[in-house]
Amino acid sequence: MSHRLLATAWARTLAVFALSLAPLLAICAYAEAAPVTRVAYGTGKIVPIPASIPHAEGDMIDQRIIPNLRWIAQRYPIYVTDGYSGPLPNGEHAGCDGCHVKNSDHYNGLAVDIVPLEPSSKCDAHWTAITRLALWAEPEQNKPRPPFRWVGYDGDAGHGCGNHLHLSWNHAVAPMFTLAEWVEVFPVSFTGVKPVTAPKKKPNSAPKAPAGPPGGIAQASTGGISARPGD
Ligand SMILES: [Zn+2]
Repeated sequence: MSHRLLATAWARTLAVFALSLAPLLAICAYAEAAPVTRVAYGTGKIVPIPASIPHAEGDMIDQRIIPNLRWIAQRYPIYVTDGYSGPLPNGEHAGCDGCHVKNSDHYNGLAVDIVPLEPSSKCDAHWTAITRLALWAEPEQNKPRPPFRWVGYDGDAGHGCGNHLHLSWNHAVAPMFTLAEWVEVFPVSFTGVKPVTAPKKKPNSAPKAPAGPPGGIAQASTGGISARPGD
């Protein structure tokens, strides 16, 4: 084999090798951009927020987001002021009544309002960690990192440093006061919730989240993307 042929063969080998690496590199790039998430089906249930997650008395959420919330609470000094908002099977009411926008994810138990563990109504040092959490969940305004559906903080009316941080998880379209068929979460090792499997019937396509920002239907009546007080 001549030197030239050898060089060509070597170049081809290199090219094939580089091509075979491409998908791997793409995966790495993606993994850096966002946590790998999964979709949790079934076993949705509105339950009290566990004591390991600091919260206002009586606050409840869909149990499928507890592992994620616990993961957050272990890394950021959070205090949950509101989770599920709506009627309970026993006839009582959980959460803040009438203070969220129509179709808010609070009505499905898949959103929480967060303030610093050490309260402060001013945007001061107590909020530094909450701001870090907000930027982790939404590195760029209106482009939340999966599994988050909507993040309310600086730049969103009624939210932000000194007020509160709102986190919503992606979920199947669900009427108010009902449990969503699925919710998107990031996997954590200490789930505390029985792993759930996807239904036998495979969805035809990737699950679709409701269009627009969370509680977005109210957007039309309030007249602006940022006009979402109390969400
Ligand atoms: Zn909220």
